[in-house]
Amino acid sequence: MHTIVAIKQVPDTSNVRINPETGTLIREGVPAIINPYDVHAVELAVRLKERFGGRVTAITMGPAAAAEALVECVEQGVDRGILISDRKFAAADTLATSYVLGSAIEALNAEDPVDLLLFGLQAIDGDTAQVGPGVATRLGLPLISYALGLESFDPVARRAVVRRKAERGVERLETRLPALLTVEKEVAEVARAPLPNLIRAARYQPELWTAEAPLRFDPDHIGIKGSPTIVGRAYTPPPKTPGERLRVAEQGLAETVSQALAAILSAGVVESLGPVPVTPQQEVSHG
Ligand SMILES: Cc1cc2nc3c(=O)[nH]c(=O)nc-3n(C[C@H](O)[C@H](O)[C@H](O)COP(=O)(O)OP(=O)(O)OC[C@H]3O[C@@H](n4cnc5c(N)ncnc54)[C@H](O)[C@@H]3O)c2cc1C
Repeated sequence: MHTIVAIKQVPDTSNVRINPETGTLIREGVPAIINPYDVHAVELAVRLKERFGGRVTAITMGPAAAAEALVECVEQGVDRGILISDRKFAAADTLATSYVLGSAIEALNAEDPVDLLLFGLQAIDGDTAQVGPGVATRLGLPLISYALGLESFDPVARRAVVRRKAERGVERLETRLPALLTVEKEVAEVARAPLPNLIRAARYQPELWTAEAPLRFDPDHIGIKGSPTIVGRAYTPPPKTPGERLRVAEQGLAETVSQALAAILSAGVVESLGPVPVTPQQEVSHG
């Protein structure tokens, strides 16, 4: 049984700040963490290993500092951590990121067949939720997004039943394996790391994969060259100023409605209101 988990190291803030000159995230001075959804994906992979045996591999594409995120995964119970890092991968959009991760997974599958791929639902910085579906599409694998939990999992029969969040509630989907799941935090509650893992992690050195070795990534598909998404302008939007409050109790319904209509018109929300039927008003009391 071999499970691969894709983890992303992200700034420890949901209030990301953008460098107005470069349009990139200000990461200096902001502590880095493993993307919260990915921590739960790692936990699920480790639980499956405890039940069915096998190995868990965690992969991440990122700067050298992302190696510490892989060490944290080893604390949680991951067997192997692979850092895919090279200046040539920098400024990748989701297409280039899914190419790199998809290619790495194909290579890992060739040496140790994969039963399950786990991705977080989305990253708290880029927030696109595109990488998981992108990798599933590239590898031609079944994709189940918004996964809440495994109802059944049979690596021998190569089938699984997954509960997923849907607009109208919860869906139960059966899939063949290998499959790719993008997970919600509900998939597995994170347990405290056992001492043997902490000891192993303390001396664990993640493997480093560059753009050339052990796998040669196509230079046209990585980094800026491989990214059709050009960030035109990135900026932190100014905080919204609260709207004007109109109080019916103070000025009566008719006056309030006509002021609201005037505000809508002057804000250009609508061009004209056309003839407004005027009906006699009775005072509204707010007891
Ligand atoms: C503020 C901001 C806005 C951005 N907007 C866009 C945009 O509109 N379009 C675009 O193409 N790119 C965008 N990017 C770039 C994008 O963040 C990167 O391409 C990134 O590598 C993947 O996208 P994501 O962060 O949205 O990840 P998501 O697709 O939200 O991540 C989902 C899951 O995929 C896995 N994953 C994602 N990245 C990695 C990684 N590097 N290594 C391992 N696993 C990973 C994790 O399991 C993660 O939980 C933006 C970046 C920032 C910081």
